[in-house]
Amino acid sequence: MARYIFITGGVVSSLGKGLASAALGALLQARGYTVRLRKLDPYLNVDPGTMSPFEHGEVFVTDDGAETDLDLGHYERFTGVPARMTDSVSSGRIYSNVLEKERRGDYLGKTIQVVPHVTNEIKDFINIGDDEVDFMLCEIGGTVGDIEGLPFFEAIRQFSHDKPRGQCIFMHLTLLPYLAASGELKTKPTQHSVKELQSIGIAPDILVCRSEQPIPEKERQKIALFCNVRKEAVVAAYDLKSIYEAPLAYHYEGLDQAVLDAFDIAPAPKPDLRTWEDVNDRIHHTDGEVSIAIVGKYTQLEDAYKSIKEALVHGGMHNRVKVNVNWVDAEVFDKEDAAPYLEGYDAILVPGGFGERGTEGKIKAAQFARERKVPYLGICLGMQMAVIEAARNMAGITTAGSEEFDHELGKKRFEPVVYHLKEWVQGSAKITRKASDDKGGTMRLGAYNAVLEEGSKVAEIYGDTTIEERHRHRYEVDTTYREKLEEVGLKFSGMSPDGRLPEIVEWQDHPWFLGVQFHPELKSKPFDPHPLFKDFIRAAKDNSRLV
Ligand code: GLN
Repeated sequence: MARYIFITGGVVSSLGKGLASAALGALLQARGYTVRLRKLDPYLNVDPGTMSPFEHGEVFVTDDGAETDLDLGHYERFTGVPARMTDSVSSGRIYSNVLEKERRGDYLGKTIQVVPHVTNEIKDFINIGDDEVDFMLCEIGGTVGDIEGLPFFEAIRQFSHDKPRGQCIFMHLTLLPYLAASGELKTKPTQHSVKELQSIGIAPDILVCRSEQPIPEKERQKIALFCNVRKEAVVAAYDLKSIYEAPLAYHYEGLDQAVLDAFDIAPAPKPDLRTWEDVNDRIHHTDGEVSIAIVGKYTQLEDAYKSIKEALVHGGMHNRVKVNVNWVDAEVFDKEDAAPYLEGYDAILVPGGFGERGTEGKIKAAQFARERKVPYLGICLGMQMAVIEAARNMAGITTAGSEEFDHELGKKRFEPVVYHLKEWVQGSAKITRKASDDKGGTMRLGAYNAVLEEGSKVAEIYGDTTIEERHRHRYEVDTTYREKLEEVGLKFSGMSPDGRLPEIVEWQDHPWFLGVQFHPELKSKPFDPHPLFKDFIRAAKDNSRLV
């Protein structure tokens, strides 16, 4: 049976609950335990798949094809444990399950209520895989006191009672604001937040307090006294230069020890922190820097491309260079020359995206990179744009475009070198969908294999000819145009195992130009950077030496 750590937040949102959970997961692993991390989100969307990246940030895709919250990305990057469909749930999903059961008659005519039906559904979810790991870390999204969070708080309260004594603990994150005028850290918001938690029957065992200033002993004692926690269980979380400092920083503040104490685990196994010491060393000791342009649409909210940004940082750590990420809005040069906007960067990355807006600019970015021999990595939509660019400017298919944009406008304008896929194979199963299917969950989602051509650049980078990567898209490059494109030098160097779906394209006559239909960024970790990002940053570094 797993031990459970429930992580909640108070005072304000965006305190870094996800990061604290992920870092704690890493520290428990360093002590020799197995962990799994989960996110319970109070919003009513069934999953974040249809939520705008402007609002919600990136959608993180798991191997088993779930569209989940970006916090699962943090979890994977810190623990290396591949997240699953059953590691993320929202109120929307819970209610939808309950209502489905009600329609099916599973409740035998009973009146359906939040307690016990909704809370039971939440508890069943939390319990999945209970026998698989030593510790299950469950983060509750939002802030204590939010109306929509209540069923989750009630469920975890009940859950801790259902389990044997000592099997569950509660960790609460709060903020200690600093008042410059009086030169003090204020503990009152933390006290109120803990009161709120206690009023719904949850007594925190550990308080993690975000603070810009060191927490004086007096304040620490006060928090412990008023919030009914042990003094050693008041853990400070200071601002960090890099998120990857978090595991060591939390360790030195005593978080993992406090957790083991709360579970009465003694003697505590000694931690092996070498992985994180190496990660820290790589962040702090760099030799030079590279400047990467991310040419995208959702550039106002950096979280929209969270995993890409992190994967670039990992690539930098591997090459011991600092990576400066620059967000370039593709729409700005939709109708003008892209060169003034793109000159001076060591490499260009065009990320995934949906809809036509900004795509002419992305096509120009691909053209600029090809002509100027600047390293280019096109991810998903970024690959599709590179293929359209090649078709239009090299293969003479001047009206080349994607069916996605014609569908959006309801008008046929383009020759569809990128088309809407309606049938494909996953493992041994055939998957079919209609054009009229719902927007949510109708994409090619999750892990698929690709076969790489021997001797190609991409096979050399991976050091292998079979790979598995995660997908999230509706449209595909059409192999009808393969011959024409290969004739002008754009090689289809990676295909789905049945040879029908192009997975990777590369320009032959270019130092580093790759388009990939999948999302390699989702699998990169600071202690195990993704091969494509390692080599992309290496190419950027070589390029920066040339200028
Ligand atoms: N919009 C494109 C598609 O659905 C690309 C998706 C993406 O970049 N993730 O195929």
